[in-house]
Amino acid sequence: MTTVFKKIIDRQIPAEIVYEDDQALVFKDIRPQAPVHLIVIPKKEIPTVNDMTEADEALVGHLFVVMKKVAQQLNLAGGYRVVTNCGPDAGQEVMHLHFHMLAGRTFGWPPG
Ligand code: AMP
Repeated sequence: MTTVFKKIIDRQIPAEIVYEDDQALVFKDIRPQAPVHLIVIPKKEIPTVNDMTEADEALVGHLFVVMKKVAQQLNLAGGYRVVTNCGPDAGQEVMHLHFHMLAGRTFGWPPG
């Protein structure tokens, strides 16, 4: 089944894209949980963290460098939270590996 994130990559549905390169895409979450709520994805289709292989190590490292660049672009000097949900207990909805990048307010710990 084609995921909603694959449809965004393929421009079949719209998204507010804030960063793109050959491996990665960053866009605004449609249901923001903070003043800044971005979704950071690889263009490669990997359903969950559990589906990653050693071959994906550099790709996921790249996504973190992308997050650093986006944080600089958006001047998130106060910091931000990076979250990934893996599987049903974590509440993963979209089966395309992604990182939530949240900023613009303070966050509690432990998470809910
Ligand atoms: P997760 O629960 O970790 O799978 O998170 C999936 C996230 O994708 C949720 O925060 C949704 O609000 C977000 N989302 C779902 N559909 C879209 C969409 N079309 N554009 C942007 N974000 C979306």
